[in-house]
Amino acid sequence: MNRVYNFSAGPSMLPEEVLKIARDEMLDWHGSGMSVMEMSHRSKWFEEIIKKAEADLRELMNIPSNYKVLFLQGGAHMQFSMVPLNLMKKGKADYVNTGVWSKKAISEARKYGKVNVIASSEESNFTCIPELDPKTFSRNADYFYITTNNTIYGTRFTKLPDTGNVPLVADMSSNILSEVIDVSKFGLIFAGAQKNMGPAGVVIVIIRDDLITDTNPEVPTMLQYKIHAENGSMYNTPPCFSIYMCGLVFEWLKKHGGISRIQKINEEKAAILYDFLDNSELFKGTVEKKDRSLMNVPFVTGDKELDAKFVKEAAEKGLVNLKGHRSVGGMRASIYNAMPVEGVKALVAFMKEFEAENK
Ligand SMILES: *Cc1c(COP(=O)(O)O)cnc(C)c1O
Repeated sequence: MNRVYNFSAGPSMLPEEVLKIARDEMLDWHGSGMSVMEMSHRSKWFEEIIKKAEADLRELMNIPSNYKVLFLQGGAHMQFSMVPLNLMKKGKADYVNTGVWSKKAISEARKYGKVNVIASSEESNFTCIPELDPKTFSRNADYFYITTNNTIYGTRFTKLPDTGNVPLVADMSSNILSEVIDVSKFGLIFAGAQKNMGPAGVVIVIIRDDLITDTNPEVPTMLQYKIHAENGSMYNTPPCFSIYMCGLVFEWLKKHGGISRIQKINEEKAAILYDFLDNSELFKGTVEKKDRSLMNVPFVTGDKELDAKFVKEAAEKGLVNLKGHRSVGGMRASIYNAMPVEGVKALVAFMKEFEAENK
């Protein structure tokens, strides 16, 4: 077996300890005589799995009791529709445009109501988080929407907008569980699992109770938060195996000191890479320093052929999936929770070597 350091933006690396537990439990989960994949979602075993996953997530994120945790399907993309379908009561919402994912959310929301894009960093190809002026916020909006970490560009919100009584909604797909956050500042948080929690197939929604209301009856049943909340995410068959894997990742996080500890490690990993980029004569980071992501680090040499050569030679050394997103080009190292410090050190060591040979 020869495992690589996988810098993919998602689906991405999972902790090796977690994969080994899943392997050991694959044929016979806790004496049930069957795999989690083979169990009824109504069985007492699966009930234990989903309850434990939720309890551990609540503990890790310190989720207040007036919030529900939902395990849904359809990925983050489905939330681009579910958020407006359920929350746009007055038909108006504020959005901040920080890249491809917020643009998609904006165009979905426009199907259901008035969208006010109060700030955008599109002019700078999303290399920063735009300044927000509270005077421009709509006072009677149904919600205020942000993408806390922009996976493609490597930017993140380092401070949250003060939206007063307007609920703050956040797409946290690529930075959930990476740093300590105050859940009570949000009305709704959603995150697809495949970046920082588990395999693809489940999206986690953390929603404040007062936002779980009756929707227009024309909204498809499966797209109503209330239905899923009333049925404990078991209105239909949930993505059982993905939920189980997320649960193992939550246990792993708890065992290793929780979010404050992983945040320190994430800051250390990001600093190793950014410090190198800031001092390199060949490689350059593409993002404004103040808005740098801890999770996704894009960089370029300024020469497309050299970029391609770097990606190819890095892969030969077991440093894989470093090609940047097509809209940014160059390289991107995604260094989620499961990427060990050694992986980042190995990357930087190779970058130094490459720089010496190619500058
Ligand atoms: C990956 C990603 C998405 C899309 O997730 P899907 O699960 O493929 O729908 C949306 N938002 C952000 C911030 C992402 O990183």
